[in-house]
Amino acid sequence: MSHVFARHTKIHPPVVASGKGCYLFDQSGKQYLDGSGGAAVSCLGHGDTDVIAAVKAQLDAIAFAHTGFFTSEPAEALADLLISRAPEGIDRVYFVSGGSEATEAAIKLARQYFVEKGEPKRSRLIARKQSYHGNTIGALSAGGNEWRRAQFGPLLLDVSHIDPCYDYRLRQADETPEAYGLRAANALEAEILRVGPETVMAFIAEPVVGATSGAVPPAPGYFKRIREICDRYGVLLILDEVMCGMGRTGTLFASEQDDVRPDIIAIAKGLGGGYQPLGAMLCSGEIYRAIEAGSGFFQHGHTYMGHPTACAAGLAVVGAIEERGLLPKVEDMGLLLRAGLQERFGEHPHIGDIRGRGLFVGVELVQDRETKQPFAPGDRIAPKIKTATFDAGLICYPMSGTIDGRSGDHVLLAPPYIITPDQVGELIDKLAIGIHAAT
Ligand code: PLP
Repeated sequence: MSHVFARHTKIHPPVVASGKGCYLFDQSGKQYLDGSGGAAVSCLGHGDTDVIAAVKAQLDAIAFAHTGFFTSEPAEALADLLISRAPEGIDRVYFVSGGSEATEAAIKLARQYFVEKGEPKRSRLIARKQSYHGNTIGALSAGGNEWRRAQFGPLLLDVSHIDPCYDYRLRQADETPEAYGLRAANALEAEILRVGPETVMAFIAEPVVGATSGAVPPAPGYFKRIREICDRYGVLLILDEVMCGMGRTGTLFASEQDDVRPDIIAIAKGLGGGYQPLGAMLCSGEIYRAIEAGSGFFQHGHTYMGHPTACAAGLAVVGAIEERGLLPKVEDMGLLLRAGLQERFGEHPHIGDIRGRGLFVGVELVQDRETKQPFAPGDRIAPKIKTATFDAGLICYPMSGTIDGRSGDHVLLAPPYIITPDQVGELIDKLAIGIHAAT
């Protein structure tokens, strides 16, 4: 009997033994193709010798030193590297251990920024339905995943949730993608006006929505309009790139492709590539300077922030993504994957939509393709696909949709950036086995 408090108390997973490239192996020797990088984490695959060497070297030098006393070479170097690649205006990096810590820090920084600026009435966060920003109380309050929030309602912050930008479900038949992008973004302005602009501190959104929606990219012009609205009302724009950042969509920062200038960015997952737990919150020079000129102290922190070994892993991972030219490969393999899925499932009666950017791909499953009717809540297909694909030797990330009961189940695919064309074919074959068994 295991004494590990696993999340699923009724499922007993196999013991993982090793990993190499795009594959994981359990103790019985069974091989699994990592079609989702776990949860969009393992961007370089498993057993990367360069990253392992960097981690080992850092352990030999100094594994940990508290940031209350020291900074470290890997933290300084990784911050320099990230800032040199980040969108214009982003100037500081605050290292944490994962995605929830990054978004939680972003929310608290937004609040402290306005306190320091003498605008203490600004405390409201606006977020979107069908989103996920993490599982700590602040991050969970921001998220719009009803299933994850359900039993914690009384503990959550009062956050506004506007409709997401979700072309497949919410664009009207007679609307162009551009007109829809504008309409979806204007929901932010309506909410700001409804609650009072002087009370709003920030809007948080995933550039490409991950876990709760299955790789949903924004409509054209959506984020441009969001930025205009934020500027008009003095509201900070927080982009949560925890899942879609660090090359996952073909550019180091996902928001580069939407030409949007955020005030704060959250990253994690692919930053450490799974070799160490690592996340970061990046903020603009303007926000940093407000704290510097004010109290001089960000009232937030964790013991393991700026962990040298984690930062050494991050430095090696981001270095490898760039030095090995993996971003164009993400683009190419992503196109191949989406084209292959389209060819295999384009006419499938239960597949409503195939979408995504780079190697961040979602397949939405519906009861009825014509009406887009989702599977009934008691008959969700996502868990069945997870079991069937895992049996077939594929790891993918299925989730049930929740947006007011309107969204279907989906499978999220986010394989390592080193995936080969043959492995893309294997992924599609094994996914087909899972979908066939589940439908
Ligand atoms: N933000 C987004 C967009 C995510 O997808 C996730 C995790 O899936 C998180 C935040 C939370 O990250 P973590 O699980 O590392 O706390």
